[in-house]
Amino acid sequence: MNQFNDHCINHKYSVSSTKKRPFIGGNWKCNGTLTSIDSLISELNSNVTVSSIPEIVIAVPALHILHTKAILNPGGFVAAQDVGVNGNGSYTGEHSAEMLVDAGIMWTIIGHSERRQGFGVKGETSILVATKAKRAIDNGMKVIVCIGENLEDRQNGNMNDVLRNMLEPLFDTLNECDWVNVVIAYEPVWAIGTGVTATPEQAEDTHLLIRKLISSRVSLNVANNLRIIYGGSVKKNNCVNLIKCMNIDGFLVGGASLLPEFSYIINCLQL
Ligand code: PGA
Repeated sequence: MNQFNDHCINHKYSVSSTKKRPFIGGNWKCNGTLTSIDSLISELNSNVTVSSIPEIVIAVPALHILHTKAILNPGGFVAAQDVGVNGNGSYTGEHSAEMLVDAGIMWTIIGHSERRQGFGVKGETSILVATKAKRAIDNGMKVIVCIGENLEDRQNGNMNDVLRNMLEPLFDTLNECDWVNVVIAYEPVWAIGTGVTATPEQAEDTHLLIRKLISSRVSLNVANNLRIIYGGSVKKNNCVNLIKCMNIDGFLVGGASLLPEFSYIINCLQL
């Protein structure tokens, strides 16, 4: 057994013995055409068994959600990439939780770092992210909430505070019973779309930190049952080592979810 496996297995016995269903999210971001989606989904439908494990949720641009839902094998889910903080009404450009649920879209990503950074305009705060999460859950949805530090935060030793500050509004806003509808995606900003992946040790240590925070601020039961997934340049060549870590319960995959290798990544969670 190599040093990496030792590291992960030590954590396996010190944190939680609860076996969680693995979760794989795809995040297509603002990419795709009707034709490229047809070929990608046909590839997934033939190469992935979407019946039991893992839970597969693909976040699709709003325009393409219903088309993707119609052609994805039953057992896989599509998600929105964001949800409105308000209900229906005069909110141009928004998609409300009510509307998504009415269309059978039961999952959404919330608080992706690209939205927190704001595309050059004012980005989303952690309070807004928590408010959206509560609103979506109250309407019957499940949410993938993204958190992650930037490189400067990590290098300056501020990572723990940054992650805690991103989670605090969720602790304040969600009831304990809401957490069954939450998946936390740890996505270090420096690893998103850069080709630089957190090492299994870095990811495992951070997931453990997040789980401990949730244990102390929500409950041990929620911490033990919550799926904490890793995102940030997950690829065919690193997914196997990452998923060996006890506190990594799956992935949120961006760039590689647009490629045929996404099937390989999904299937690595079924090993
Ligand atoms: P990436 O994106 O896999 O391309 O790094 C992950 C994400 O942004 O969710």
